[in-house]
Amino acid sequence: MNDSSRHSGKLFIFSGPSGAGKGTICSRLLAESDPERIALSISMTTREPRTGEIDGKSYYFVTREQFRQKVKEGGFLEHAEVYGNYYGTPKDRVLEQLEQGRDVILEIDIQGALKVKEAYPDGIFVFILPPSMAVLRKRLTGRGTDSMETINMRLSKTLSELSYIEEYDYCVVNGDLDEAVKRVKSIVIAEHSRVTENIQELLEQYKEEE
Ligand code: ADP
Ligand code: 5GP
Repeated sequence: MNDSSRHSGKLFIFSGPSGAGKGTICSRLLAESDPERIALSISMTTREPRTGEIDGKSYYFVTREQFRQKVKEGGFLEHAEVYGNYYGTPKDRVLEQLEQGRDVILEIDIQGALKVKEAYPDGIFVFILPPSMAVLRKRLTGRGTDSMETINMRLSKTLSELSYIEEYDYCVVNGDLDEAVKRVKSIVIAEHSRVTENIQELLEQYKEEE
């Protein structure tokens, strides 16, 4: 990211079919980025934790009642029912980070992304795709975290999910992981290189130096 981006946090929204590799790519992006510059929003969900998932790190795992209470309080930027469970993006933390000038990543489903787009049209919407349906099935099975029934339900939603791709600004096919991570990083850099971004400040500085 260049210096002209210093003051503005950007909201990046990643979606795509379950198993496409959103989580894997986002983890790599975060691990290879400056934590002062970019952070992942931790969602709240009523889904049961998978083996190895840590409360407060993977998700905030809550009961349906706790989730409903948060909805009532207006505490979500967006929330949606996905595959029979509720998921939501806690609002305060995201807004706080953006105000502090930090980019925020939302890894959310398409319904949620469309709601965010209405409220935050300046968000950058990135669709992660698997190279094929066969690979997607293999990845979901290989992840070993979901039952066959859950996997089939997630796969059956994929084609209808793909029809929303035109709502997005970028798409990244996650075949080779390194290549996909490189592309996602390039998107972040490109978005921070827009002429609109704080460039006036730099131009003023040039004038002062003259
Ligand atoms: P999502 O977050 O989109 O549901 P995950 O990040 O959990 O998907 O990835 C699904 C599975 O596919 C995981 O087991 C992950 O390790 C694997 N995976 C992700 N990206 C790749 C890739 N480029 N090549 C091979 N396997 C991958
Ligand atoms: P998983 O159960 O595999 O962790 O996630 C299932 C789906 O829910 C994924 O598509 C994921 O992106 C989405 N998801 C995770 N958190 C949120 C959220 O806060 N809001 C919405 N709308 N979807 C979410």
